[in-house]
Amino acid sequence: MTEEEQDKLNFERLLDESVRIHGHLCPGQVLGVRMSMFGLVKAGIADPKGRDRKNIMVYVEIDRCATDAIQSVTGCSLGKRTLKFVDYGKMAATFVNLGKKEAGTNRFRGTRVLAKEESRDAAMDYFPEIREKYRRQTEAYKVMPDEELFAWRDVLVEIPPEDMPGRPLQRIECERCGEYVQDRREVRKDGRPVCRACAGAAYYEELG
Ligand SMILES: [Zn+2]
Ligand SMILES: [Zn+2]
Repeated sequence: MTEEEQDKLNFERLLDESVRIHGHLCPGQVLGVRMSMFGLVKAGIADPKGRDRKNIMVYVEIDRCATDAIQSVTGCSLGKRTLKFVDYGKMAATFVNLGKKEAGTNRFRGTRVLAKEESRDAAMDYFPEIREKYRRQTEAYKVMPDEELFAWRDVLVEIPPEDMPGRPLQRIECERCGEYVQDRREVRKDGRPVCRACAGAAYYEELG
């Protein structure tokens, strides 16, 4: 089997798995699988779910279909603290190699990959015989070259110790509500520790 055939086989297998987890085949699954495979190679991570599983962290910038594919391919998850969601609303993700730390800092090398805006239109040039736009896009994303789909840059990402996997660094009681806050997510009000909700940033309003 040639390397190209092997890559195609890997791609099909990863896509199958991500479709199973996500629940349907969509352009986002194909794009997410492609983006992950590409980002992992660029970041120098060969075996994300095996021997490199402690050397990977992914920052996703959107919570859409592709995010599930990224999670599926990389094995990273919120629960393992290896998947970070930064709410930029952009179809982009950064694949960080935790094995590539800048000495004396909390900075790590990685590669940020962005799905090009033009790739949406470019996809329409493929498979003109497929009438349905959504399906045409899905098939196009399978075969379009990386360069047409993605823009990428090597980056440094600062990851503070309290964001790393492993045991919580700290648990502290909120002085207002009494709930416990882990990993230094508390804020100080008049020098006293309070949770973010009590500090005025609650996303909910309590009833009754
Ligand atoms: Zn989807
Ligand atoms: Zn509180």
